[in-house]
Amino acid sequence: MAEQTKQQYEFKAEMKQLLHLIINSLYTNPEVFLRELVSNSSDALNKVRFMQLTNENIHSKDAPLQIKIELDEKEQTFSIEDTGIGMTEQELVDRLGTIASSGTLEFIKQIQESKGKLDGNMIGQFGVGFYSAFMVTDEITVETRHASPDAVPVKWISDGQGTFSVEESEREERGTKISFKLKDDFKEFATKYRVESVIKKYSNFVDYPILIEDEEINKKGALWHKSKNDIKDEELTEFYKFISNDFNEPLDHLHLAMEGRMNFKALLFVPKQRKPNFFQNEEFKSIQLYSNRVFVQDDCKEILPEYLRFMEGLVDSEDLPLNVSREVTQYSPIMNKIKDVLVGKILGMIEYWAESEPENFKTFLKEFGPLFKSGINSDFANRDRLVNLLRFQTTKSGDDELVSLKQYVERMPDFQKEIYYLSGDSLRDLRNDPRLEYFKKKDVEVILLHDPVDSFVVPGLMQFEEKDLKSIEKSDIELGDADEENKDALSGDALTKLIGVFRDELGDKVEDVVASKRLVDSAATLTVGKEGMDSHMERMMKMMNQEIPASKRLFEINPAHPLIKNLAAMNEAGKTDRVKLFAQQLFEGSLLMQGQLESPTEFVNRMTNFMKMASED
Ligand code: ADP
Repeated sequence: MAEQTKQQYEFKAEMKQLLHLIINSLYTNPEVFLRELVSNSSDALNKVRFMQLTNENIHSKDAPLQIKIELDEKEQTFSIEDTGIGMTEQELVDRLGTIASSGTLEFIKQIQESKGKLDGNMIGQFGVGFYSAFMVTDEITVETRHASPDAVPVKWISDGQGTFSVEESEREERGTKISFKLKDDFKEFATKYRVESVIKKYSNFVDYPILIEDEEINKKGALWHKSKNDIKDEELTEFYKFISNDFNEPLDHLHLAMEGRMNFKALLFVPKQRKPNFFQNEEFKSIQLYSNRVFVQDDCKEILPEYLRFMEGLVDSEDLPLNVSREVTQYSPIMNKIKDVLVGKILGMIEYWAESEPENFKTFLKEFGPLFKSGINSDFANRDRLVNLLRFQTTKSGDDELVSLKQYVERMPDFQKEIYYLSGDSLRDLRNDPRLEYFKKKDVEVILLHDPVDSFVVPGLMQFEEKDLKSIEKSDIELGDADEENKDALSGDALTKLIGVFRDELGDKVEDVVASKRLVDSAATLTVGKEGMDSHMERMMKMMNQEIPASKRLFEINPAHPLIKNLAAMNEAGKTDRVKLFAQQLFEGSLLMQGQLESPTEFVNRMTNFMKMASED
């Protein structure tokens, strides 16, 4: 055996930062260290239990799988010991000396953003882990022995200030023991009563006995194996909080027990509130996978499609082949069948809310709507069900009211053959958009898309109940009034000539200039031909750096508008140069309305000149 040597190591730079932040930010919730240590032990036990199923050759083969906590009030000491998988020397140096989890980095970011004022309850949402123990102590000792038979026991000691040491240890048994002396301010964590109450709060469902002074203090057992009638609501809530680290109650849950062709149980929850950075961070652990009560893995991405990754909970199946590598398990046909059933049940629950629990449905859409709707573009098997769950604000809904496509179609007047939408950045801007004038006059409802996901999803639908979905920016919209004449509108030669001047002046910038049938109060607008993309979509694609040729627009002028009539008169009087300035200004004004004016300089200069002229009269 190698000579006993003690090696000194430096923490990585971020680690120093993390330790500093932990000590200064977590002091309102010092007890989280207990949950973190217990959960590390539970993970380590899960790993060794899994190993036992497939491997005979394990150190301390018969050691009971358990977590033992020892307290000494007089000495103010605390220790937690598990018979889990342990760590090799290399693992010890790597895992307790470098930042491992993305949760930790996220945690640092959040504390910095909140300037240290982090809500204690939020802490559970990040795996701050082992280091949180430095809140309550000045020095930690870790002794560990890995489960493989030839592993050397090692000891890690650190004061959390910048360095740690590693040396050989005397530890006989497999697993890990973490021990320290509590700072005076935290000596409460050497009393059984205090420790027990924290563990009951956070770790009651840990699947291994937690012993304090040889007394088992946690409830154990797989809640999901009980029959539905035997589970109390409080138990479900408590379990949800335990497995999700959420401090709210869940919005709803699903408890499934499938038997027969397929055997599995699932206990799944929908949170009331999404976690911080939910949409950006796809790493969050969500569904745990068990095989006949044995934990297999923590973050099973294959069991639910991406668009349902807001679900929390677990799936337990006896049918999953356990003795193969995880990869194979994930891609097994059984997995796919379970997935299909789960998706169906989850959609069923959401459909039920849509019908009978409108408040739940609203909360759900607010928290997870954008992700959920993206399923339309990925889950083709369930596309119709997902489309039926879309909800929108429209020109006829209040801001809080939600309209489905089905409702929209039901209230379409007879002459209306298509479903109309307009997309933009905010509901307020959309409600004031001049392009809606015509539809309001005709009493035709227009769907207002202000969620970027909707702006991508809805145009892709193409049709609903055999009706085309169409942006009102499209030029080819007919609402059965092609022949209606407005007696006051400009027509004939003067109009043709005016349009000619506009065409010459705007040249390539537009596809064409036409007399509009759809404008009511505004003088001009831009519309897009059959093949073109609507302006909001085009803008979003540009924002995502997509190379797309800008589609040319049709410039529509309103022959009934006084300004257009005045311009025709000016044109007749030979003031063509001035008419051209107006043409540019109207055109750029329309671009501006659609958020597509690249530089406002000329627009503003021209406007200043117009104001100068107007003020001289
Ligand atoms: P996290 O648990 O979020 O990964 P921690 O800082 O708590 O982060 O722990 C870092 C790593 O150290 C763990 O991922 C695990 O590999 C290892 N570890 C911590 N505690 C134990 C333990 N009791 N037994 C075995 N390994 C452990």
